[in-house]
Amino acid sequence: MIENTDEKLATVKSSPDKESHLIPNVDDCRRCNTKNCLYVCPAGVYEWDNNEQKLIVKYENCLECGACRIACAKKSLIWKYPKSNFGITYKQG
Ligand code: SF4
Repeated sequence: MIENTDEKLATVKSSPDKESHLIPNVDDCRRCNTKNCLYVCPAGVYEWDNNEQKLIVKYENCLECGACRIACAKKSLIWKYPKSNFGITYKQG
């Protein structure tokens, strides 16, 4: 039986596209005081670069759970499923 998060993540197969399916609004991210996406994502997709004042999006790691779309305080994140044949496959249902 799988008991920890790392073991569970190892059961997910990912086929990332070359283009991101997660497109944040750069200006809204700079103005956002909460940066909820940094905290809600179970896959650690988002990082805030303080020097560049920009959101780094490692979309290749996305689990397609949709939490960031709901949590975005500015409601400006463009969130789409990856194109056909890309994205993740849950190997155990
Ligand atoms: Fe992270 Fe889920 Fe958003 Fe993907 S959909 S970036 S896994 S919070």
